Amino acid sequence: MINLVLFGPPGAGKGTQSEKLIKKYGFVHISTGDLFRWHTKNDTPLGKRVKEIMNSGALVPDEITIAMLKEELDKNPQAKGFLFDGFPRTVPQAEALDKFMKDNGSAIHFVIALDVNEAELRTRIAKRRTVENRADDEEEKLNKRITEYFTKTIHVLPYYEKQNRLNTVHGIGDIEEIFSNICTILDKK
Ligand code: ADP
Repeated sequence: MINLVLFGPPGAGKGTQSEKLIKKYGFVHISTGDLFRWHTKNDTPLGKRVKEIMNSGALVPDEITIAMLKEELDKNPQAKGFLFDGFPRTVPQAEALDKFMKDNGSAIHFVIALDVNEAELRTRIAKRRTVENRADDEEEKLNKRITEYFTKTIHVLPYYEKQNRLNTVHGIGDIEEIFSNICTILDKK
């Protein structure tokens, strides 16, 4: 069983690379952004709680996010391996994830951070806005998401770096080439 965290700022290409990784390696995909969007779309009690927070571009509180993640893990006891996309986004989330994995006799084996600069992120999301209709892609909300990333989420990187689990992949350029660079890391170990 291999568990992977795919890490990166909004617009880094986590969704695109996740799709390809799942096809190749058969991971169970856990995207907290997708899960929150599902809840808001279906107007569940959780969806009602997080809708405004998400639409503002802010992070959902750890307590809510971690509980949702745990539920998702428990739904997939037979998983061959998990790909976490958009989680962890804070150090307490990273600590909780390690604990859940350990409790199941497992671990996070790989952390892959997609490295994309802010100017490129903004260009990509502006483009995405013309095809997808994500409420949080609007300019002001996007600014908040980018700020949340650079003030809160970025601290997750040294957390993994200290444990020698961090692999950084340059996230600009050909999608296939980025994918192949990720696969090289996964296949090496
Ligand atoms: P992005 O395109 O910014 O990577 P996601 O689709 O992963 O966005 O997440 C969309 C929104 O869902 C975030 O802006 C945040 O409000 C909420 N969210 C997703 N994952 C988390 C998390 N791990 N912790 C807190 N909030 C989260």
